[in-house]
Amino acid sequence: MSRFLKAAYRPMKEYVPGLQPPKGRLLKLNTNESPYPPSPMVKRAIDAKLIDDLRLYNDLEARDLTDAIAEFHGVEPTQVVAGNGSDELLALSMLAFGESGATFADITYGFYPVWAELFGLSTRICPLKDDFAIDPGDYAGNDKMVIIANPNAPTGIALPLSGIRAIVQANPDRVVLVDEAYIDFGGESALNLLGQYDNLLIVRTFSKSRSLAGARVGYAIGPVELIKDLNKIRFSFHPYNVNSLSIAAGAAAMDDKSYFEACVRKIIEAREFAAAKLTELGFQALPSSTNFVFARHPGISGESYLNRLLEREILIRRFSTPRIEDFARISIGTMSQMEKFIEVTREILVEEGLL
Ligand SMILES: *Cc1c(COP(=O)(O)O)cnc(C)c1O
Repeated sequence: MSRFLKAAYRPMKEYVPGLQPPKGRLLKLNTNESPYPPSPMVKRAIDAKLIDDLRLYNDLEARDLTDAIAEFHGVEPTQVVAGNGSDELLALSMLAFGESGATFADITYGFYPVWAELFGLSTRICPLKDDFAIDPGDYAGNDKMVIIANPNAPTGIALPLSGIRAIVQANPDRVVLVDEAYIDFGGESALNLLGQYDNLLIVRTFSKSRSLAGARVGYAIGPVELIKDLNKIRFSFHPYNVNSLSIAAGAAAMDDKSYFEACVRKIIEAREFAAAKLTELGFQALPSSTNFVFARHPGISGESYLNRLLEREILIRRFSTPRIEDFARISIGTMSQMEKFIEVTREILVEEGLL
């Protein structure tokens, strides 16, 4: 640390992303990427003309992308803003709407508390119930913006739409942001409530279900006034936030509905297979509506399970947060990757004398 860093940032703990090891032999099940490549339409969209056009600045409104998103969801383009990953829009939302602070769960996306600290927002933390579900009642009588990941991460558990509605209704004077990074894999989208509330904002990503994690594309959908506010903050920070290649890639991925649906279907099938096999092997797997499973075995600590898997070139993720230290978060790959993962897990349990 240099002596020049602002005093307020010195004690700050930055976000620690999952490992991105050099491409190699590891079976990478640690950051919830898609095991499938982007739609073939993405490859076609990145053509020579687009590359020549890189000499020009990109479209400030990312119109091709926001139009494709608006069409897919049946909303107006003025209700959409695109971001450099959904992370950027989550951060801009906290800057825009976090005046009195932010409320979120104790076990949820680890970036929320980091942004809160970076932006100087006070926080109110609502512990998940014993079964790791969100209790909507905890979010009543609250004076801060609310952030709910639905389905939640890293638990994988979805809150029914009635719960989201209850939280939105209980906080009419605060923005309720629903982070739907995993909604394509299960659960009911809060998009069904759009138009009924002026305080509901939905954030989504192309990183998981649309195979574009490395392109950094996300979007927010909400009432026109909230989107205008987000654009005001965006133009005060980084107006050219989504680059030309990612605009084209995102629009093409959005347009290829059948490819998207086929990928999601295969991932759900592999998830159900993996969860059932883990249960057979004695794991407790939380009910997942996402592209990962969150599971623990009573006979092995989370840390040693992760290390045993790593010795066999399988990379998963775990968190040293209280209550979930012994859980493993396993991203869902292809069916054959999950068969391999289950086989290796079986070998580990045999070696540990647990089978
Ligand atoms: C992966 C993830 C994100 C970040 O997505 P990007 O679009 O890649 O920035 C946001 N929220 C949750 C809950 C996630 O799991």
